[in-house]
Amino acid sequence: MDATAKSPSQVPVGVDPTRPSIARVYGGFLGGKDLYEVDRQVMKKINEVVPEAVDIARGNRGFLNRACRFLARQTEIDQYLDCGSGLPTAENTHQIVQRFNPEARVVYVDNDPVVIAHGRALLEENDFVHMVPADIFTPRAVLENEVVRRAVDFSRPIVLLQVGTMHHLEGDGAPAVMTQYIDALPSGSYVVFSHFLDPEVPELTEIARRIEQVLVNGPMGAGRFRTRAEILAMLDGIELIEPNGEAAPGPAVCDEWWPDGPQIQPLSGAARCILGAVGRKP
Ligand code: SAM
Repeated sequence: MDATAKSPSQVPVGVDPTRPSIARVYGGFLGGKDLYEVDRQVMKKINEVVPEAVDIARGNRGFLNRACRFLARQTEIDQYLDCGSGLPTAENTHQIVQRFNPEARVVYVDNDPVVIAHGRALLEENDFVHMVPADIFTPRAVLENEVVRRAVDFSRPIVLLQVGTMHHLEGDGAPAVMTQYIDALPSGSYVVFSHFLDPEVPELTEIARRIEQVLVNGPMGAGRFRTRAEILAMLDGIELIEPNGEAAPGPAVCDEWWPDGPQIQPLSGAARCILGAVGRKP
C-alpha cells in the first residue's frame, strides 16, 4: 500500500447498507443485534473458516475490561482516551472506571455512525463522557480535536486505549501512528493495547491466515495478524508491565493477561491469535 493510500476503515461506512462495519461485526460476535445483512455475511464467512473465531472478540473484550479495572483501582489516573472504542452492549470503559471514580473522564473516539449514535446517547446521561467522531489513524485529528483538548488535560497522566484497532490499519504505518500518540502522553500515563497476533506456530498461523483472508480480501478490506515483534514495535517508549504472575514484563495472549481465575478449559487456537499489553510511559 502506498503511504498516502487510506485503509478502508479510514473512510467511514456512513449509512451504506452494502458496506460491512468493523464495529457492527465485532459487536455481533459479542452478542449485539445491531447488524445489517452484509455484516452477518462477514460473520458467517469467518465462522466457516474458523468456527471458534468468537474467542478472539471475547478474549479482546475481557482483556479491555480487566485492564480498565486494574488501572481505575490501582492508579490515580482519572482521564481515559479510548480510540476506536466501539460501543458493545455492556461494560464499556466509562461504565468500568466510573465505578471507582464517578468523575473519571472518558473520551471515546470512533468513526462508525452506530458507535457515534450510541455515544451521543450516553452523553445525555453523563457529563464526564464525550464522543468524538475522528479518524484514529490520523493522530493529529484526535490529539488536536477541540473536544479532546477540552476534556483531557495533557499535563496530567492519561490512559490511552488502542484496543483491537491497529490491525485495521493496512501497510506498515502502525508504529509511526502509535509513536505520535505515545509522544503526546505525559510521563506516568498508561497505554492499553491489543492486536491480532500471528503466533508463528504453524497450526496457529494457519488459523490467523484463514481469518485474515476473509477480512482483507472481503468487503471489510483490512485486518492484519502481525507477529509479536511487529506488535512490540508499536509500543516503543512504553514500559510494559508483567502480564500475569508467571511471565516476564511484556504482552500476553489476551485471555492470559491477568485472568479472573485459573484457565480450566484449554484455550482455543483462535484465542491464541490476539495479543494484549499494558504499559507505562516513564
Ligand atoms: N476498542 C473496542 C474493543 O476492543 O472492545 C472496539 C474494537 S473494534 C474491533 C474496532 C473499532 O475501531 C470499531 O469500533 C471501529 O469503528 C473503530 N475504527 C476502525 N478504524 C477506525 C478509524 N480509522 N477511525 C476511527 N475508528 C476506527
